[in-house]
Amino acid sequence: MSKELGIKTSKKKNFSKWYLEVIEKAEILDTRYGVKGFQIFLPTGMLAIDNIVRLFEDSLQERGHMPCLFPTVIPQSYFKKESVHIKGFENEVFWITHAGKNKLDEKLVLRPTSETAMYPMYALWIRSYTNLPFKLYQKGTVYRYETKMTKPLIRGREFYWIEDHTAQKSWEDAEKQTLEDSEIFKEVVEDALSIPYLFLKRPEWDKFPGADNTYAFETVLPDGLILQIGTTHNLGRNFSKVFKIKYTDKDGKKKLVSQTSYGPGISRILASVIAIHGDDRGLIFPPTIAPIQIVIIPIFTNESKTKVYEKCAEVLGKLEEKGFRVHLDDREQYTPGFKFHEWELRGVPIRIEIGPKDIEKKQISIVRRDFLERIQIEEERLEQQITETLDSINYQLSKRARESFLIQSAKDYDELKTKLKIGGFIKIPFCMRESCAKKLKEKLGIDVRGTIVGKREEVNGKCIVCKNKAKEIAYVGRSY
Ligand SMILES: [Zn+2]
Repeated sequence: MSKELGIKTSKKKNFSKWYLEVIEKAEILDTRYGVKGFQIFLPTGMLAIDNIVRLFEDSLQERGHMPCLFPTVIPQSYFKKESVHIKGFENEVFWITHAGKNKLDEKLVLRPTSETAMYPMYALWIRSYTNLPFKLYQKGTVYRYETKMTKPLIRGREFYWIEDHTAQKSWEDAEKQTLEDSEIFKEVVEDALSIPYLFLKRPEWDKFPGADNTYAFETVLPDGLILQIGTTHNLGRNFSKVFKIKYTDKDGKKKLVSQTSYGPGISRILASVIAIHGDDRGLIFPPTIAPIQIVIIPIFTNESKTKVYEKCAEVLGKLEEKGFRVHLDDREQYTPGFKFHEWELRGVPIRIEIGPKDIEKKQISIVRRDFLERIQIEEERLEQQITETLDSINYQLSKRARESFLIQSAKDYDELKTKLKIGGFIKIPFCMRESCAKKLKEKLGIDVRGTIVGKREEVNGKCIVCKNKAKEIAYVGRSY
């Protein structure tokens, strides 16, 4: 390895620079590809992505959502059908106009999202109420011509996600589906990845193009900026009307299906994991998605080498047998100290060190990545201790993340301005009018992210902007 190990920037002092440094040095992405906004996932990044995706797929399939894969291209005629949808996306799609030297008869869109690719086929497949609910998802990349400044994993022109599209008998069933989507999100993002977030209903003026209701999952990064990491939409009958997706109900009548689309933003979820859990030594992966959960470092002299390697191989075998993702770092050109730093940078949750003295005492040294604390354990308790330590790391990551998850409240405009300096979400009494939201954006650069789902919050007082009676407690803040 030619490049310098070790993170030079303090996360607290300059989060943005720290984030880029970690992404580069821990080899998550390479951003030097020759097209702006497009990047390369390196093995560590890709393995983590695969593990996040697997968690979502397990959760989806448990609830009857099945995988599929649609083409990356959408013909213009499909794409243009839903007028609100096309209006929302027309400025940010990539077009394919030529093949070889020939101009195509019909232009093709590189999918920015797949409603208009999937629904013409749903119209062919769905016939009767017995087909419903109909639930398919796909994983893959989508393309949007972003004009804002791009940032690795957070805003790119190509990004990796899962999109899940369902068809339901009624509008109410579609609304229920969005709640199931939020359960899936909780299982993966909050429980397995220890990332706190809010589930918010977007205001009317900020809905997904073509949706009746839009809900968003949003977290806060250490710079105080809010990041949307997933959405789910109740599309109602807006798409089924234009794509003619009908079913014959029990009463023999033909009816339009109601639909939902759900998109956990996998790249952005990985960005949150890196940003929220990492420290000045680099990444800290939650054990659930760590490409390597345990690394074994042999420490030996010439005399003890054979004995140490034998013990390492034995420990490796035992842990692999139990299903842990383990790696033995047997590179001899590097010192143990160098290896310690490298695996800390790459966020491996547990390091095992094995030396001649440990072997004599029938013990093993383990170092956990979150506290960087060394524990001596008896060899025979190894597997049990590893399981407990991985659980404890997950717990600690979750605790730390929750403690720094910023939700403040402000009663008036001045208080809002003061609290804004700290960042995160700020709860305000609000009239829910777009004109007031525009003023907040113009004057303070903040967005109205929405209202909390599943909890009716008591509203007192006046809208912080227009002083009319407040309708809701809105969550606002600066965002990516
Ligand atoms: Zn107002």
